[in-house]
Amino acid sequence: MPLISMRPLLKQAQAGKYGVAAYNMIDYNSARSIIEGAAQLEAPVIVQVSVKTVKHWGYKPVAGWVRMLADTVDVPVALHLDHCNDIEVIKRCIDAGWTSVMFDGSALPFQQNLAKSLEVYKLTEAAGIGLEAEMGAIGGVEDDKFVAEDKALLANFDECVAFCKEMPKLAVFAPAIGTAHGFYKGEPKIAYDLLAKITSAIDIPIALHGGTGLNQEQFDRCIAGGCAKVNISTMHKHCFIDGFVKLKQEKPKLEEPLPFIQSQYEAMKADVMSMIRAFGSDRKAPAAKATMAAQ
Ligand SMILES: [Zn+2]
Repeated sequence: MPLISMRPLLKQAQAGKYGVAAYNMIDYNSARSIIEGAAQLEAPVIVQVSVKTVKHWGYKPVAGWVRMLADTVDVPVALHLDHCNDIEVIKRCIDAGWTSVMFDGSALPFQQNLAKSLEVYKLTEAAGIGLEAEMGAIGGVEDDKFVAEDKALLANFDECVAFCKEMPKLAVFAPAIGTAHGFYKGEPKIAYDLLAKITSAIDIPIALHGGTGLNQEQFDRCIAGGCAKVNISTMHKHCFIDGFVKLKQEKPKLEEPLPFIQSQYEAMKADVMSMIRAFGSDRKAPAAKATMAAQ
């Protein structure tokens, strides 16, 4: 299928109370594991890319790989830019064929975040693609941005309402609700009450950042509470490296590169498939496609 915007995908997920897996791709092999894992389970999926990864490979190669892989499967795939605070990078992604982007103005004071997010909202609306915007400060490391645990701030409810009112067609909203990027050191303290308050006031699907390391009960509660996009990055990176290292340990004399690539692929794909099942989006592609076709 051609790449599609994240917005109808996530509206469907919000209505159906399931979560769409949003995996941070690393290279072609990783994008292939995400898209083919989703296809095998008939699940809609989001392939997202960090700014660092886009800059490493280049805009056109990344868009080209994902578009080509999506064309070979029969499930909806969106290509999304993860956490970005640089409008020039966003413009280049839009030109290269991204079907959604995230503007992360969470480090800015409220009014500046709103003004810049609105600027990007106009760009994404004109391009007919989806936008994700963030409020509050999600803890942990994302690209080169580090938010210490004591600096991570839950989103302010009144600001969330005022913010989303200005952008009714936001594809997905990312309020900080206590989850963090990276591996959790202790038990994450998820603010379910804040999530419930936000979703009762705002009819926009919610993004759950920092999905790696949450347990099934936490996923279930967040998804039932309105989280329609669940981000996984850290575990995918771990599988990428582990898939390689494990084979090298098992067969230290193996010099052929392809078995290593296959081993990485299998490790990443197994994790993608297990998370898709955990989020309840397996077998959801046929209904999502039918509804989108009818709209
Ligand atoms: Zn994030």
